[in-house]
Amino acid sequence: MNPDSPLAKHFRLNDAHTKALSKLRIDTVRDLLYHFPVRYGDTANIEYIKNAEVGKTVALYGKLSGLKTKKSFKSKVPMAEGTLTDETGSVKLVWFHQAYLAKMLRDGTLVRAEGKLTEKNGVRSIVGPKIETVESIPLGVGDSLFGKEGIESTLYPIYNESKGITSNWIFHTIQRILSSGTLDQIHDPVPDDILHTFNLPKLQTALVWIHRPKKESDSRSARKRFAFEEIFMIQLEKAQTRVERESHGAFQIAKNFLDIKAFTDRFPFPLTDAQTRAIESMFADFKKSYPMSRLLEGDVGSGKTAVAAALAYAVGMSHPIGQSFGNLQVAYMAPTEILAGQHFKSLIEYFTGSGMQIALITGSGCQKFPSKINPAGTTPISRAQLLKWVANGEIPILIGTHALIQKSVRFKHLALVIIDEQHRFGTEQRRKLREKEDHIPHLLSMTATPIPRTLALTLYGDLDLSLLDELPPGRKPVETKIITPDKRKEVYEYIRGEIQNGRQVYVICPRINEPDPDLETAIIAKSVTEEAKRLEQEIFPEFVIGVLHGKMNSKEKDRVMQEFTRGEIHVLVATSVIEVGVNVPNATMIIIEGAERFGLAQLHQLRGRVMRSSLKPSCFIFAETKSANSLERLKALSSAANGFDLAEYDLKQRGAGQLGGGKQWGISDLGMEAIQNIKMVEAARSTAQHIVKTDPKLDTYPLLYEAQQKRTKKIHFE
Ligand code: ADP
Ligand code: MG
Repeated sequence: MNPDSPLAKHFRLNDAHTKALSKLRIDTVRDLLYHFPVRYGDTANIEYIKNAEVGKTVALYGKLSGLKTKKSFKSKVPMAEGTLTDETGSVKLVWFHQAYLAKMLRDGTLVRAEGKLTEKNGVRSIVGPKIETVESIPLGVGDSLFGKEGIESTLYPIYNESKGITSNWIFHTIQRILSSGTLDQIHDPVPDDILHTFNLPKLQTALVWIHRPKKESDSRSARKRFAFEEIFMIQLEKAQTRVERESHGAFQIAKNFLDIKAFTDRFPFPLTDAQTRAIESMFADFKKSYPMSRLLEGDVGSGKTAVAAALAYAVGMSHPIGQSFGNLQVAYMAPTEILAGQHFKSLIEYFTGSGMQIALITGSGCQKFPSKINPAGTTPISRAQLLKWVANGEIPILIGTHALIQKSVRFKHLALVIIDEQHRFGTEQRRKLREKEDHIPHLLSMTATPIPRTLALTLYGDLDLSLLDELPPGRKPVETKIITPDKRKEVYEYIRGEIQNGRQVYVICPRINEPDPDLETAIIAKSVTEEAKRLEQEIFPEFVIGVLHGKMNSKEKDRVMQEFTRGEIHVLVATSVIEVGVNVPNATMIIIEGAERFGLAQLHQLRGRVMRSSLKPSCFIFAETKSANSLERLKALSSAANGFDLAEYDLKQRGAGQLGGGKQWGISDLGMEAIQNIKMVEAARSTAQHIVKTDPKLDTYPLLYEAQQKRTKKIHFE
């Protein structure tokens, strides 16, 4: 088989197969070979339900029956239960607060259930089991499901399934490809000497080892190789971007701290040391021959806007190249209208009295500061007028949403682009903004998303990093309480009192690990809606409840956020993924449901939403388990200095999965494994940089070049 020929040419596919494969983005033989197992089962370890040990985490196979939802007897918490049975016995399965999960399952389904086995009054059960549907039970059968392929190993791969296609089908199809001689036509893009240096298997070997491991160490080496390859390919691209950027000229800005001191002295606070350091490294960047590309990482509330303002001021005060009059320009982009509006307001505070003009452009209108009649006020202006002023260079600082990157927006001397919450913009959008001028403007990206250093090195390999690792003094920490189910009622009563005092509350619904992203959003959206209904009917009938989730379009989302900002919604039930960075000072409380499912860094970021006011903020972490381990882990939230430390802690304690999945960053789950290994990331990075330094276009590495083209095409296609 030609690896690049469609699967349909070699295998008889029915409609369900075709649909499922296209959903998994598998078209060619090669694509399927790169569909790696999510894990391995071991027929030697499979246990009968009868033999499963109480107190241990077990994985049991069986048939579901008796699924139903109800309210728990004592606490009236919504719950679901069912029974798992194999030929030797049965256990009870119980879910609290997630009735919707059980509703997605059917009686009679064969599943694998994983969780801690407990026993009470002679009934054995698993609370909150992880459920996975399987095609058959690999048990008891003498010729076990995977015994027939003539494989001497007891390890069998388990693949991500999609409706219409089972792990078993994928397994057999891949085994046929591996036996067909196709591997001879697959060439390894990673140069031999690199594989040798890092002791990694060649591609052909790795493909066999990952799909047909004889022993566990085979699959481990194979995974290590593919993880390395992925990070290496990313680093290669970042190294090229960096080299490309450094070949461009830049607007040199000869400003020093002293030049802006009068400006920052007017801030109502002294800068923190971290802020000063960040500004100084950016001034140093400004003096280089190529444009700055810097990422400013800092927790919510660490004062990134003040840094951005200082920089914008320095640029707005500088003259265009070869001129002793006029000014350079700054574009400041935010992901939503609300955030853009908030930045406009913040900058006005920082710039009042400075004489510098600032304008705001969003889909719903334009404004300019200062107004002619009121030096501390703003005036609405027409879009046409604003665009004219921007084009002839009269407006030094323009803030906006995506509206900023439209073709009609032309700058005269765009020298600095600032992007807030930069992960919310695609690479393409960022590039567009920078391409607006002949000279490449300096770039300052800002993010509050706490990620570990290895991930930052990978994702932002083309950027220089500055960290704001200290909060301004006197900030009130968010009081964080871990709430077990028996204390819920008390918390709801406390919140009722606070809402009556005019406060507002966020309720965040749990993250769900579901291989299918569409299904995942659907489940979360459903849980948000159901939780809102429950709160409305059973807990807070007297208050206005709003919902916000990923299935809503951006207009609806904006409307709900506006209503919440204006205080018309008291309780906002939302998913964890949206609207970071929004400032609603009245929202002083946040409840996080199903907190065990979140990484600590994510919990930290969520609680950051209520840290913005002078009122005392509180965060209630609703945990479902009583497990000492989980509770201990959650306690790290009260001791850690910042989100980046928590991200590091998560990575060490629980692995890359806790960072919330690599999908959002365009890294596969396998690639995320490399993120745990600083040595591997540094090796991939320095190797890539070395290659690009001597051969930026990869002329002497044709296979690598080809692999890169394929990768880029695939990413763009997605
Ligand atoms: P973020 O990093 O989340 O964007 P902001 O820039 O919005 O943070 O700043 C959060 C708050 O902290 C603002 O009200 C701002 O005025 C204030 N702030 C910023 N820097 C300092 C500082 N050095 N000292 C005291 N308060 C500060
Ligand atoms: Mg901010």
